[in-house]
Amino acid sequence: MIKDNLEKVRQTIPNGTRLIAVSKTKPVEDLQEAYDAGQRLFGENKALEMRDKHDALPHDIEWHFIGHLQKNKIKYIIPFVSLIHSIDSVELLEAVDKEAAKHDRSVDCLLQFHIAQEETKFGMDMAEAENAIVEMRDKGLTHVRIVGVMGMASNTDNRKQVRTEFAMLKGYFDTLKERYFADEAAFCELSMGMSGDYDIAIEEGSTLVRVGSAIFGARNYANVND
Ligand SMILES: *Cc1c(COP(=O)(O)O)cnc(C)c1O
Repeated sequence: MIKDNLEKVRQTIPNGTRLIAVSKTKPVEDLQEAYDAGQRLFGENKALEMRDKHDALPHDIEWHFIGHLQKNKIKYIIPFVSLIHSIDSVELLEAVDKEAAKHDRSVDCLLQFHIAQEETKFGMDMAEAENAIVEMRDKGLTHVRIVGVMGMASNTDNRKQVRTEFAMLKGYFDTLKERYFADEAAFCELSMGMSGDYDIAIEEGSTLVRVGSAIFGARNYANVND
């Protein structure tokens, strides 16, 4: 079933957009099934869960961290994480830099924007993002690199609203690119779109879609402890 779902989703993803299989709460066997169907890019939102899955699965998987990252848990993912999507403060960026330095590596990060109408979702606004970039440069952080932005649209059936929010995020991306990263080819990632709205996100320019339930089925949060 996972293999079939994956193939169906893949058929709708154009060149220029990468598919992250969001496997949070799912058992290692499910990830292995997706791996066997060729999937190499996975997203998780809990540090310990991602660490354990990394340890249990083949090491050519690219792991993306997409959830709220607590500072005391950064250390569990730094040795192997490919991209952290959820930077929402300079303090977090500094903490990631510090851990990454211990492992003598540089970690790619996205700035998470708040684009949804809901109050509860994490993320920055434009002023906060610009501050973070300026402060990061002032501090000379060398073990983190900002390669783009991420956002989650409102959880709504109103597809017009969702499209407006994705277009807004694309606008933030373009502005940051022009003001701060014009000479940095690495700043190229726009992470937006989930199972219910990734088609719209792709139309609005997404380079990374984060798709969970459309691949692995509905999640059962009763299985999770973190
Ligand atoms: C869970 C999650 C997803 C995937 O959600 P689905 O609706 O299952 O595709 C994408 N992005 C983030 C940040 C998530 O936490």
